[in-house]
Amino acid sequence: MNRRAVVLGGGFAGLVTARVLADRFDEVLVLEQGRYPDQPVPRDGVAQGTQLHVLLARGADVLFELFPELPARLDAIGIIERDFGTDVLQVVGRIRMPRRVAGVPMRCATRPILEAELRALVARVPRVTLLQDHTVEALVMDGPRVRAARVTGPDGAAQALEGALFVDAMGRRSPVLRWLDALGFDRPEVESLDAGFRYATVAVQPAPGAALDGRILMVVMAQAPDHRRTGALMALPDGTWRATLVTLPGEHPERSWASILEGFRLLACPDPWERLQGATPLGPVHPFADVANRRRRFDRLARWPGAFVALGDAVCRFNPRFGQGMTIAALSASLLGEHLDQQDLDRAPVQAAQRFQRRLASLHDLPWRLATSDDAIWLPDRPASLLDRATAWYLQRLLAAVAGDADLNARFIRVAQMLDHPVRLAAPTVLRRVLFARPRALEG
Ligand SMILES: Cc1cc2nc3c(=O)[nH]c(=O)nc-3n(C[C@H](O)[C@H](O)[C@H](O)COP(=O)(O)OP(=O)(O)OC[C@H]3O[C@@H](n4cnc5c(N)ncnc54)[C@H](O)[C@@H]3O)c2cc1C
Repeated sequence: MNRRAVVLGGGFAGLVTARVLADRFDEVLVLEQGRYPDQPVPRDGVAQGTQLHVLLARGADVLFELFPELPARLDAIGIIERDFGTDVLQVVGRIRMPRRVAGVPMRCATRPILEAELRALVARVPRVTLLQDHTVEALVMDGPRVRAARVTGPDGAAQALEGALFVDAMGRRSPVLRWLDALGFDRPEVESLDAGFRYATVAVQPAPGAALDGRILMVVMAQAPDHRRTGALMALPDGTWRATLVTLPGEHPERSWASILEGFRLLACPDPWERLQGATPLGPVHPFADVANRRRRFDRLARWPGAFVALGDAVCRFNPRFGQGMTIAALSASLLGEHLDQQDLDRAPVQAAQRFQRRLASLHDLPWRLATSDDAIWLPDRPASLLDRATAWYLQRLLAAVAGDADLNARFIRVAQMLDHPVRLAAPTVLRRVLFARPRALEG
């Protein structure tokens, strides 16, 4: 019998998942409600595609393993590998990281470029079919398991597509909660933390001769309590830049080019603002407001539809300050592949799916803790836990030490890029250097 997997949603998580499932099923259908544009431009359905996206080194590793042709394709369009330590300016509050080789690779692409490259590669994978203009409307059960997805196609006709596995990769607006309701399942607990950050991004043409000192990215990160803005400039191979500003509640939302420039002027470090002098905006400023951390605890539900799993932003999304979303989506797709190799989906469709949601929740635990403990610092009415305060204190000392210690900086970058576990930053040799760092490095 032909075993088919059906991926609901053809965004970032859906595409990577399709690649993983192609090694394990006879046929993989990806159902995408939108129409993919011919050019790598933002598209409906992925509203965040207008915003600057940084792919962490760990995420790139996973993608390059799944798509070995991807690095060469990126090279061919000028998105070449650089070193995070030398080619990225990173400033946290007023602490400037040293410019030394870190041995951590880095490439800068827009989100639409990355997605277009993945799409082109997935379309070439035997057994995978990408169906655009196909909106998934509901799940159809057969006893304890999902048997089909009810879909409306481009001609408006509805059909039920059967399969052995269904994967919700429908992103932040996934209708899965409504579907669970309709099928008589409980709603999951939802954990969320919203510090009220707002993002705004604009494409710019730099002034003639303006450059980022040979860098591909400049990031000045907010640091509580005084430095309340994050600004980032990304250089792209076509000579344009993307400028992103992140502000907190109570500040003027940055909606115009003039207000973006003013926001950059107020950053703790002047470098990006200086580089933007004489630049011309190439289009409107794209605001993006809803970046709350939100986690649906599907892993805690006692009852769950068999042969159905959810991953990507549909399950857990993070305030993108640390750029975790795409990397976690890629890791989740890999985890699903590994899980399917160990579980008997056909014999125990409910248990196999539930166990996946639990393993996925474990994968989310650490990035969730990092994203939410940092955001919690910005919420004055929310009493910070002892652990949050200790983490914040240690991070401050660590940054001070990193500013004057290239080796420590490289270790810090590896952790921030999710290549190493944060526990590495609490190793005894690191602890000693952190605790005895000279305080003047704070203003480095
Ligand atoms: C402002 C902002 C900045 C970000 N910056 C970064 C960053 O720097 N680095 C990073 O790693 N991550 C970043 N992210 C997070 C990243 O965008 C997401 O984590 C990632 O896109 C998750 O992928 P996904 O496939 O789950 O969702 P998406 O990529 O949003 O894809 C969901 C897909 O499902 C489709 N769909 C929805 N409903 C249906 C339906 N009923 N039927 C069929 N198809 C459907 C949609 O059309 C869409 O194509 C950022 C997010 C935001 C909001």
